[in-house]
Amino acid sequence: MTAPKTAIKLHNTATRSKEVFAPIDPQNVRMYVCGPTVYDRAHLGNARPVVVFDVLYRLLREVYGPDHVTYVRNFTDVDDKINARAAESGREIGEITAETTQWFLDDMGALGALEPDAMPRATQYIPQMVAMIEDLIERGHAYAAEGHVLFAVESYKDYGALSGRSVDDMIAGARVEVAPYKRNPMDFVLWKPSSDDLPGWDSPWGRGRPGWHIECSAMSYELLGESFDIHGGGNDLMFPHHENEIAQSCCAHPTGSFANVWMHNEMLQVEGKKMSKSLGNFFTVHDLLEQGVPGEVIRFVFLSTHYRKPMDWTAEKAAGAESKLDDYCRMIEQYADLDAARTVKPLQAILDALGDDLNTHAALVGLDQLANHAMGTELAANLVFLGFFSFEKIERIVAEIRQAKSRLEPLAEKLQAIRSIAMQTKDFSEVDALKQRLNDAGVVVAMSKDGVTLSAGPNFNSAEVEALK
Ligand SMILES: [Zn+2]
Repeated sequence: MTAPKTAIKLHNTATRSKEVFAPIDPQNVRMYVCGPTVYDRAHLGNARPVVVFDVLYRLLREVYGPDHVTYVRNFTDVDDKINARAAESGREIGEITAETTQWFLDDMGALGALEPDAMPRATQYIPQMVAMIEDLIERGHAYAAEGHVLFAVESYKDYGALSGRSVDDMIAGARVEVAPYKRNPMDFVLWKPSSDDLPGWDSPWGRGRPGWHIECSAMSYELLGESFDIHGGGNDLMFPHHENEIAQSCCAHPTGSFANVWMHNEMLQVEGKKMSKSLGNFFTVHDLLEQGVPGEVIRFVFLSTHYRKPMDWTAEKAAGAESKLDDYCRMIEQYADLDAARTVKPLQAILDALGDDLNTHAALVGLDQLANHAMGTELAANLVFLGFFSFEKIERIVAEIRQAKSRLEPLAEKLQAIRSIAMQTKDFSEVDALKQRLNDAGVVVAMSKDGVTLSAGPNFNSAEVEALK
């Protein structure tokens, strides 16, 4: 295979440097991203890694071909939070996880995220986890004690290398659970016993359930092999989750490298503050969608900040993104050939920006440049590439803009007539009154010496407009 036209460089947490990305097999570029624990709606912060790694997935598909990328993201459907939710609500665990899984897919779909190639559920891989745990015991990296199986952290000399911590620092700083069955306080659970009222599976150590970390190691091995290209997640997962994944996978498969590139997105804040239930600024993706914030607006705000910087969600940014996307759609209505757009390749400057460790801000500047040059066809193609719209959705929006335009024609004539009279009488009160009512109905009014132009703004209300005729 010849070298792709777009060079990709990615910041690798493991080496703390930006490296040229060279996949193990360009015919099958493999990426694993830690997915949600399914017991509740995804909050806005949960959506950030989904959107970040969706952009990377789109870039990899463009550069290596859509059939040459495998993206795996798991669903954690066995977890104590899920058990607690079932106990407090009196509902079946399976019902809660199935419902929440679908919510997650619907909400992330609204943000323009493509579904990964595989979305394994932890409960479907219990035998593989048990086999991996047995293997770790056999190799001297894990031990069974009182129905539990624990990973022996001291058996893996590189433990802590990803996050740059030493085991002693971790013991000093972490809220480690000191349990009598642990040889070292940092040892972590691979398997734990289940009482009869909790989900459990038969195992060599009795009826029980897996620890959280082992699922990613077992499922990535099954679906991507012992060495793959990229592992992603939020930087809140770096320790302990990713350290533990590395320890498990590298000890169970010492000939493999597990993940070559580790990517971590920074956290999300709201109006400059950490999102938390106690501050009253905690909301879900679904809440925003219900309030009428379109998914593409959320996506645009996310992508305006680099993934390795904290992302501050503000109402002001959302409003700015909405009016920007609205301008783009009007530009497309005027200047695009949407049939042609379907075969237009993404702009090289946008690919290059993404290739530079996902510089999404620069990619958005590329959209602006297309808009500034009235390149509507290219603008439409690149908005679709970046995941803001589907072509079907752009076609729908363009049809709506055209419909609104034709509806506004009589009102533009009416305003023009009143204005001509006002020019004579010098009494503009009627002009101002109609203009105000048009603005209130979401109509953008532009008046110049050449006449009056009306167009539908983001808050266009067609019923109110009809009433003005
Ligand atoms: Zn994971």
